[in-house]
Amino acid sequence: MRGMNCDMHVHTEFSGDSDADMRKYCEIGKQKRIDVICFTDHVDFNKYDEGYGYYKPEQYFDSLEEVRKGMDLDLLSGIEFSEPHLYNEQLSLLAKYPYDFILGSVHWVGDMFPCQEVRDKITAGEFFSLYWKEVLRTVEQGGFDCLGHIDFPKRYYRELYFEEAQIIKIFETMHKQKIVLEINTSSLRKGLTTTMPDQALLELYKFTGGEFVTIGSDSHREEDLGEGIDDAKKLIRNLDLKQVIFRKRKRELV
Ligand SMILES: [Zn+2]
Ligand SMILES: [Zn+2]
Repeated sequence: MRGMNCDMHVHTEFSGDSDADMRKYCEIGKQKRIDVICFTDHVDFNKYDEGYGYYKPEQYFDSLEEVRKGMDLDLLSGIEFSEPHLYNEQLSLLAKYPYDFILGSVHWVGDMFPCQEVRDKITAGEFFSLYWKEVLRTVEQGGFDCLGHIDFPKRYYRELYFEEAQIIKIFETMHKQKIVLEINTSSLRKGLTTTMPDQALLELYKFTGGEFVTIGSDSHREEDLGEGIDDAKKLIRNLDLKQVIFRKRKRELV
């Protein structure tokens, strides 16, 4: 393991909630000594999501090809596909494009996103209990390479609830489906002290035979690129996990 700096979760203007520019990311990437950037824009089919219908794969690939010309950075193509288990057909169609990496994430539980209005209505414990069922359905369905921010509601509720047996089942299903786990560092920029997942969940991942993880900043602004990579790498070292990237949907150790 060479310990390269790879940010496998980066949003650009092709996401409904970001104005960030691929070329500016590259400039910052060079300053921060990032070796690999994977642009993973949101693909949302939940009609309540502000990004519903926003993503345009042709425009994304045109822009990426332009930026790649003469660029001495390893730029990978990806998507962050929300609730893959609910939009299987749409996922299969998009997967025909030459993506290097498909990140699957659960952002919505039915019509609920963990926004303030929802947090006022249901407790963190209640939300998490519905959320974990949704995550299990998503990994059972599969069709993607890596599970994004496994404990996502934590970023909003600032609390984490889980039952060990439930998480173990999710991890065992991921191993069967060859889905790896992301260490998402965006929570560190939201005032939380731990990554998503935290060490306890990563220990369970390891316990169930999990080996491979990607690192993603989940940046929506150029200046956030690569933030938290060192924290994630420390966890990887401490737990003896292996950092990977994906190229043409194939896992590569870095
Ligand atoms: Zn996400
Ligand atoms: Zn994201």
